[in-house]
Amino acid sequence: MKQINNYMDEVFYQYDATLEDVLSSIAENGMPAISVSRSSGKLLTMLASMTGAKAILEIGALGGYSGICLARGMEKKGTLTSLELEEKYAQLAANNLAKAGFAEQVTYMTGPALESLEKLVAEGQRFDFFFIDADKDNYENYLAYCIQLASPGAFIVTDNVLAGGSVADPKAAPKRYTAIMKKFNVTVANHPQLESVLLPIGDGMTVSKVKK
Ligand code: SAM
Repeated sequence: MKQINNYMDEVFYQYDATLEDVLSSIAENGMPAISVSRSSGKLLTMLASMTGAKAILEIGALGGYSGICLARGMEKKGTLTSLELEEKYAQLAANNLAKAGFAEQVTYMTGPALESLEKLVAEGQRFDFFFIDADKDNYENYLAYCIQLASPGAFIVTDNVLAGGSVADPKAAPKRYTAIMKKFNVTVANHPQLESVLLPIGDGMTVSKVKK
C-alpha cells in the first residue's frame, strides 16, 4: 500500500505550499502526522467540486489539511463545519483555514463529535457532503448521524477504511482496529440508504451516495 501511495503522490501531486505549511505547522505543534495523504486530499477537493458541495460537514479536523482540501472544492459561497475533540487542534485548523482564505466560510465545533452532531440534528441542519475521519470506535455512529443530517443525494466520504491493508489480509494479526473497520465496511456496503464504492487511495476511502 505504501509503495502505491508513494507512486501516486510522486506522479500526481503537484507541490502545494499552503498544504505543505499545514503539515509543518502540525509537526511544529507536536501534533500527530495523521492528516489524509496528499493524493487523498486532492481527491477530496475533486469530489467536493464534482458534486457541487455547498454545505460540508467534516468529522475530525486535526490541523486543517483535509479541511482546506474540502473548502477548495466547495461552491464559492459554500460552508464547512468541522468537528474536533481537541481545542488546540481546532485552533490550529482555524488558523490554517484562515491563511488559506476560508476564514469566513468555516466553523469549528469543539468537543466530542457525538455531542456536536446531536446539536446539529436539534438545530435541523442539513449537509450535502460529509467527511468522516475521527475516532474509529464511533464510525458507525457517525455514519448514522451523517445519514440523518444528509440532504437528498448527499455524499459521505470515509477515510481509513482499509486499516493499513489489514482488512484484506487473511494473515494480519487480529486487531481491534481491523475488526472495527471490517464491520464498518460491511455496514456501508449493505446499507439500504447508501450506494458505495471503496477506493484504495491513502488508507482507503469509501465514497457513498445517500439515496434520494
Ligand atoms: N481529517 C484530518 C486531516 O486529514 O487533516 C485528520 C483527522 S485525524 C485522523 C483524527 C482527528 O479526530 C484528530 O484530530 C482527533 O483529535 C479527532 N477526534 C478523535 N476523537 C474525536 C471525537 N470523539 N470527536 C471529535 N474529534 C475527535
